[in-house]
Amino acid sequence: MLQKSAMERIMFYVQVHSIEMRNDLDDAELSTKNIINFYCQACRYSVTDERGLLKHIISEKHVERLHFLYKTKYIRECIKNNVEIQPSTILNPMRMYRDLNKIVCFGNSKYACSLCFENNIVGESVLIAHCADSKHAERKRGLPEILE
Ligand SMILES: [Zn+2]
Ligand SMILES: [Zn+2]
Repeated sequence: MLQKSAMERIMFYVQVHSIEMRNDLDDAELSTKNIINFYCQACRYSVTDERGLLKHIISEKHVERLHFLYKTKYIRECIKNNVEIQPSTILNPMRMYRDLNKIVCFGNSKYACSLCFENNIVGESVLIAHCADSKHAERKRGLPEILE
């Protein structure tokens, strides 16, 4: 699960889940207490440990909000750029390929996997292959332990 480096994981939280890193403490306090404040912009939810953050980003409430935001953004971009909206990419995958809230859909067949910290999964077939992969399945099995 946490095989990715801290930097990679943080990039993932920021880029995929719109998590803001906030510190209200000064540098000296931060280095002694080692506290990071994660703030979820979509839910206005704040948490200070990574385990709590992981729990949050795979919760149904968070994923619903996130998908709503990305769906809205995708539709807006289509209108702005005068391209046809692909209903299948914004409607079906939201539920069909969510894999118990592990998968984030950006619209236009672009996905990310919160379990593997994998961004830029492009195309439904690639996503299906990803979810069927043994590494993904292994992480999924190990998740309850990490979240305990
Ligand atoms: Zn959230
Ligand atoms: Zn995965």
